[in-house]
Amino acid sequence: MADAPITQDVLTIPRKLPEGPVNLVGLTRDAMRDVLIANGTPEKQAKMRVGQIWQWIYQWGVRDFDVMTNLSKAYRAELAERFVIEIPEVVSKQVSEDGTRKWLVRIAGGHEVEVVYIPEEGRGTLCISSQVGCTLTCSFCHTGTQKLVRNLTAAEIVGQVMMARDDLEEWPTPGAPKDETRLLSNIVLMGMGEPLYNFENVRDAMKIAMDAEGIQLSRRRITLSTSGVVPEIARTAEEIGCQLAVSFHATTDEVRDKLVPINKRWNIEALLEALRAYPKVSNSERITFEYVMLNGVNDTDEDARRLIKLIDGIPAKINLIPFNEWPGAPYTRSSNNRIRAFADIIYQAGYASPIRKPRGEDIMAACGQLKSATERARKSRAQIAAEAGLG
Ligand code: SAH
Ligand code: SF4
Repeated sequence: MADAPITQDVLTIPRKLPEGPVNLVGLTRDAMRDVLIANGTPEKQAKMRVGQIWQWIYQWGVRDFDVMTNLSKAYRAELAERFVIEIPEVVSKQVSEDGTRKWLVRIAGGHEVEVVYIPEEGRGTLCISSQVGCTLTCSFCHTGTQKLVRNLTAAEIVGQVMMARDDLEEWPTPGAPKDETRLLSNIVLMGMGEPLYNFENVRDAMKIAMDAEGIQLSRRRITLSTSGVVPEIARTAEEIGCQLAVSFHATTDEVRDKLVPINKRWNIEALLEALRAYPKVSNSERITFEYVMLNGVNDTDEDARRLIKLIDGIPAKINLIPFNEWPGAPYTRSSNNRIRAFADIIYQAGYASPIRKPRGEDIMAACGQLKSATERARKSRAQIAAEAGLG
């Protein structure tokens, strides 16, 4: 396999466009205060106004300034002139037989990303994206084959959560008793993109999702998955404090170099060193080691034993992911027996070793398949059109 570039330049859209209204979504409280002041809100009032607007947007899910009845009519009109409350637009939605939902959403510039909701007993997990495509080129991941890359803004990241709450009809009604069971109770940053290559936007978006006066998800219910951007791991602990998952996938540098090319920059040893410090600094319980099961590549008993040795001393759980195949993929999935044998060795060593159940298979919502599904769907629509003599 040819060596692929490890990083490329990523275009980041500026948050405040010089022209036109400013989107209030995705701004930190401080940033919101600054833009309110810059647009004429008296400095003395700004903090209170932020508190009020914040609550409307993130607690009640309001998108229309006119509904913000604790603000004067004149002030609401001013806000409406200068600001918008904008989240990504839903292009399509699919619901799987097992209840998994997948949305395709459109962001500025006409790019599209996918968002997946996985309902479970008494809870539900939203899988969100941090970039369009990914600059990294993990050889088993379809997202990594996509050329076009752009960082999502904080608004587009937290906007995925707000969009899902809209669709799940989960914004509370003012005055109604608080419902403690949440349909959307967990977030995983496991969609498209490498979240630690878009650190500030991911951080600001997750801070908003955790804010006590808004969406209020505990940092224990947010899991950020990284391929191993070592220098950003300590920062993740300090500045976000969420749970961490690591795309480990191999037990020797030789194999990991091929599967997760960022390993050539920060190898297994460097990665493990950063991970050892993580739980202490972030106060998180365990690190999730994600391990994709590739037939004949990384799935021997010896690999399982080496894995246990490597992670010795790190509070960990190991999440085995049966490889999700995509057209042209250079790998196949390990057999069920192989996966079970591998899981057994890990379990015997005292680690939880759940095998990730593919969800939403009928709608191509599984890990590493995102976007490919959409591209395929487009192609087939185009083909249909061509066959019908319309294309
Ligand atoms: N970029 C981040 C997060 C997104 S990928 C990361 O790499 O961690 C989420 C998880 O799905 C990662 O563990 C990734 O390695 C895994 N994955 C990617 N493609 C896959 C595939 N085809 N089958 C199974 N898992 C896959
Ligand atoms: Fe990017 Fe993660 Fe896919 Fe690797 S596995 S190419 S880091 S999205």
